Amino acid sequence: MQLLRNVLEKAQSDGAAIGHFNIADLVFLKAVFAAAEELKVPVVVGASSGERAFMGVHEIVALVRSLREESNFPLFLNADHTHSLPEALEAARAGFDSIVFDVSALPFEKNVRQTKEAVEALKAVNPAILVEGELGDIGTGSEIHEKAPDLAKGLTTPGDAKRYVEATGIDVLAPAVGNMHGMLKSMVRGETRKHLDIARIAEIKAATGSLLTLHGGSGTDDEDLRKAIGAGINLVHINTELRVAWRDGLENALAKEPDEVVPYKILEPAVESVKQVARSRMRLFEGGLAA
Ligand SMILES: [Zn+2]
Repeated sequence: MQLLRNVLEKAQSDGAAIGHFNIADLVFLKAVFAAAEELKVPVVVGASSGERAFMGVHEIVALVRSLREESNFPLFLNADHTHSLPEALEAARAGFDSIVFDVSALPFEKNVRQTKEAVEALKAVNPAILVEGELGDIGTGSEIHEKAPDLAKGLTTPGDAKRYVEATGIDVLAPAVGNMHGMLKSMVRGETRKHLDIARIAEIKAATGSLLTLHGGSGTDDEDLRKAIGAGINLVHINTELRVAWRDGLENALAKEPDEVVPYKILEPAVESVKQVARSRMRLFEGGLAA
């Protein structure tokens, strides 16, 4: 089995990034895995604390592991946004490949101290585990927002990023570079797109030399995503776009067959709908055209 670090570094040398897609249930996992297998691109599936609570920490690991063993495909599992050490340790012990340790709401020095402690504790559980730290404000909640939060003051500076990476020993840094969790209604309708601070990404990459994750990728302009990958983003998180596709697929299936009660018949169009979005994003991250 390949290591996630090697997969990310290989993608970087190929000018590509790896897609990270959240899974809230088996529909998402099936859809994302099928899209990745079809395109033959490595993929990371992630589970946030809400998603882990819903599916079960050990149950998610068992599902992902069984798919991986059966297919021998580079499928990785990330614990998305853990906010405390016990929560992060639980995921590491259960067998997650990477952990997002997110105490970015704390002041800088406290964030550094707690993240450093987490890196040490998590590496003691599994030396190969990747630990990602978060710096800056990218909002909360992969859902539909009425209006955009003001995140301008929370952008990550290259100087802070360098100090943070050096002081904590993290493997991956998630900066705030114009990205935002969730989508605005106008983005769901396709009228507006998020835009990224590409120069800032390039400066953070140069200052840290670290692997970089872009959170809140849903609703981002395609060209901005390509440029962000060129500037040093290695992993792109997509969640809300998949959730919107899931709901659309489900609603269409229910509307089309009002008397249907067989779950796998109702859910199949949701799998297809999520798969199409994941596939299109994977092609873009690979350096190809979105389709
Ligand atoms: Zn995130």
